[in-house]
Amino acid sequence: MTEEFAYKSLTELRKLLDDKSVSSVELTQYFLSRIKSLDKDLNSFITVAEKEALEQAKIADDFISSPGENPFLCGIPYAAKDMFLTKGIRTTAASKILDQYIPPYDATIISKLKNEKAVLLGKTNQDQFAHGSSGESSAYGFTLNPWDKTRMPAGSSSGSGASVAAGFSPYALGTDTGGSIRGPAAICGVTGYKPTYGRNSRYGVISMASSMDTQGFLCLSVEDAAHITEYISGQDEKDATTGPVEVPKYHKNLSADLKGIKIGVPKEYFMEGMEPEVEQRVREAIKQIEDLGAEIIEVSLPNTHYGQMVYAIICPSEVSSNLAKYDGIRFGHTTKEAKDLMEVYTKSRAEGFGDEAKRRIMTGTYVLSAGYYDAYYKRAQKIRRLLVNEFAEVFKQVDVLLTPTQPNVAPKSGIAQNDPIFAYIADRLVVNANLAGLPAISVPCGFARPTDGDTPSMDGLPVGLQIIGPQWGEQKIFNVGYAYQQVTEWHKKHPEVSSGQ
Ligand code: GLN
Repeated sequence: MTEEFAYKSLTELRKLLDDKSVSSVELTQYFLSRIKSLDKDLNSFITVAEKEALEQAKIADDFISSPGENPFLCGIPYAAKDMFLTKGIRTTAASKILDQYIPPYDATIISKLKNEKAVLLGKTNQDQFAHGSSGESSAYGFTLNPWDKTRMPAGSSSGSGASVAAGFSPYALGTDTGGSIRGPAAICGVTGYKPTYGRNSRYGVISMASSMDTQGFLCLSVEDAAHITEYISGQDEKDATTGPVEVPKYHKNLSADLKGIKIGVPKEYFMEGMEPEVEQRVREAIKQIEDLGAEIIEVSLPNTHYGQMVYAIICPSEVSSNLAKYDGIRFGHTTKEAKDLMEVYTKSRAEGFGDEAKRRIMTGTYVLSAGYYDAYYKRAQKIRRLLVNEFAEVFKQVDVLLTPTQPNVAPKSGIAQNDPIFAYIADRLVVNANLAGLPAISVPCGFARPTDGDTPSMDGLPVGLQIIGPQWGEQKIFNVGYAYQQVTEWHKKHPEVSSGQ
């Protein structure tokens, strides 16, 4: 096949499929062969589900050739982070403890996409159990950044970010507990959306920190994001945290008219230590949005810098509880060495969990223990409430907030692996939206040169602009992102991906 399908919008792919210019099987083969030839060193996939993908594509083609309208995502391939349970397809959370796990059922979002007859290409690499901001805690090797293979794609949805940036899949599902969709979106130069907590179902997604876990995706434009959100959102009786809130026609309601829209720029998000060109790109983007008719208002969120510390207590507390079920009996790898029951637990967990999971289990159980609960956990929850209130106050004044997504461009590969603090530091501009359960999107807003002494051959590396909205305010963030993408081309820039062989 000579035609290029990489980087086409969902609307273009829909049209090609509806016109029968290409079949879903051909489209799927195209992406599978692109992955096969270009993903060897990028390592963005843990499992490529070739056989299952072609079967699903065949089902989509049968549907397309029957009379009637086709569902919007029908026949279009996608990828999913290895946190999403996929019936019959290995799901590891990038851990050794789940190395052999084949789920008996699909996550709700996966079954919704199956009902649409979307085609799952495979499962993407990530930080182990989504703990990290680099992809480097994966038990299946690092993922590299398609813009510069000496650098990381960020994480924890590292493989989803790299796979969309490299043109391996038009969109890829991810999870965002503390920035894990928006971080890689910014660093890989793609669009990344995290929903309002409760907008879609967590059922069948491996839990990390349940009070902050959200499921979204990385994709090529806000327009695509508005489409996908319609199909994956909504209440699910299997997840009591999903709200009885109607799912609007996000795509149909997209509007690039920003007149009368008030946009807050919180000064605390332009922090010391930001790379200067990153700040410049973000400020230019804000100016462009102002030129489109929005009113820009400087606002203050004084508790912003506590977010990262609060997260560092609440996240491991919930992680320690969620990982308790991997005991070698109910779930996960079982040791071959045990003398008694206690050793089944201890050795299975010691062998199966990576260092970062172990660190979080220890920190989490420590701050939850009787003597320290009040001093750490309870206090963190109180500050979390202040953060929630602070956002609620500011959203009485403005429609959305604009901030940088990351303070820097892609860091060098390898620096996070032995640095337990990296994962927390990298996310200081993104965790607060998780603590407060707010929707947010990161859109590409230009390129900046790194300040770590290495001059890449290109003009720089991708920078992301974060748009944060009020609870259930997805339409507002989509509209601002959409308006921006109507007058800019940053989301249409893609790296030259070589096979590296
Ligand atoms: N850096 C965060 C962490 O390591 C990201 C987590 C996430 O969003 N999955 O906890």
